[in-house]
Amino acid sequence: MQRRELLKFFSLVPMAGSAALIPGAAAMAAPPPGRRRNLFKELGVRTFINAAGTYTAMTGSLMHDYVVDAIRSGADEFCYLDELQDKAGEKIAALVHAEAAVVTSGAFAGMTLGLAGILTGMDQRKVEQLPHLEGTGMKSEVIIQKSHNIVYNHALKNTGCKLIYVESSAELENAINEKTALLHFLNIEADKGKIQHEEWVALGRKHHIPTSIDIAADVPPVSNLWKFNDMGFSFVVISGGKAIRGPQSAGLLMGKKEIIAAARLHMPPRGFNIGRGFKVNKEEILGMYVALEKYIQRDHDKEWKRWETAIAKIEQAAGSVNGVTTSITIPPLGNVTPTLEISWDATAIKLTGKELQEKLRHGRPSIEIGGVKDNSITITVWMLKPGQEKIVARRIREELMNAR
Ligand SMILES: *Cc1c(COP(=O)(O)O)cnc(C)c1O
Repeated sequence: MQRRELLKFFSLVPMAGSAALIPGAAAMAAPPPGRRRNLFKELGVRTFINAAGTYTAMTGSLMHDYVVDAIRSGADEFCYLDELQDKAGEKIAALVHAEAAVVTSGAFAGMTLGLAGILTGMDQRKVEQLPHLEGTGMKSEVIIQKSHNIVYNHALKNTGCKLIYVESSAELENAINEKTALLHFLNIEADKGKIQHEEWVALGRKHHIPTSIDIAADVPPVSNLWKFNDMGFSFVVISGGKAIRGPQSAGLLMGKKEIIAAARLHMPPRGFNIGRGFKVNKEEILGMYVALEKYIQRDHDKEWKRWETAIAKIEQAAGSVNGVTTSITIPPLGNVTPTLEISWDATAIKLTGKELQEKLRHGRPSIEIGGVKDNSITITVWMLKPGQEKIVARRIREELMNAR
């Protein structure tokens, strides 16, 4: 067997450590990646095909090879953490049209750190007082639209600030007082709020209050990386480990120079602050930098077409079962990727969404899906490895047929 064919063969063998199946294979040089120690197996941890999406509970996304390479090469040397943040931050800032940027341990950490920077500025005494704002002269309130109320806003409360929810711009202007530190915006719910991005920034300018935006899950489109910096938000946060497929434990805080500089007083290597636990090391910083750079350079149209082709395959397979209807939609905001809903006539197919989820989860190979309802499920393909769409298509069709 030629080396190339052997590698091809290995990629088709489902289980790790299958070299024993091929006579003489063990004598060959350089074990292929499939023979690495399989720690998931050793620990008895189930791995699966991710047809659900970028969920933290499912470990987010798979890092691109070039990200893993960056991490690998970063692991071989020492450097000063601050120097690396300075230099990588400069490059990142230029890529996203921001005055400055810093790699954080995720978008959530970026929100806490950005606000902390606004509250304290470069005053070390104030840095050490957070999260206790009372009697310090620091501001202590953040204004947000009611429809933008999600779990992640807790990141802002970690500074000690109170969140004030408003609906209209009149209500917002009424709520502004000498304690108002920040006007925060959530992009994924932008269409549900009465106040849009430009007006939000303008209101901040009018009252001399900084504005921020959470775009954690908002690429694609790639232009969102700079759109909100260009628009004038004082700081912007995004996740590294969603569509960008950088380290899941990284993200970006980008924005005004003074805010980023002050935010860094709340980060490692410094302690005596609220952010010492939000640690990223050289590996995440380098991985995030490379992930971002390559994400911007990639052919997004081609990637989109790949997703369309893959999802069409699953749609065809599921749709060929009698009693099944399918539709592909693209969410307008957040996780913007083709999303397939498969629903079925409950009288013809005796299966609940939950039961289908369990069957796929406990089948071989294990598959995770998203959006489970009484008689429907939701699928995305952007976290699939090439070719896995065929397995997902086959398994879903199989289970739907079995339940007819
Ligand atoms: C995922 C997400 C976050 C948290 O991002 P991390 O990078 O995991 O910290 C915050 N806000 C929104 C809207 C998200 O989707």
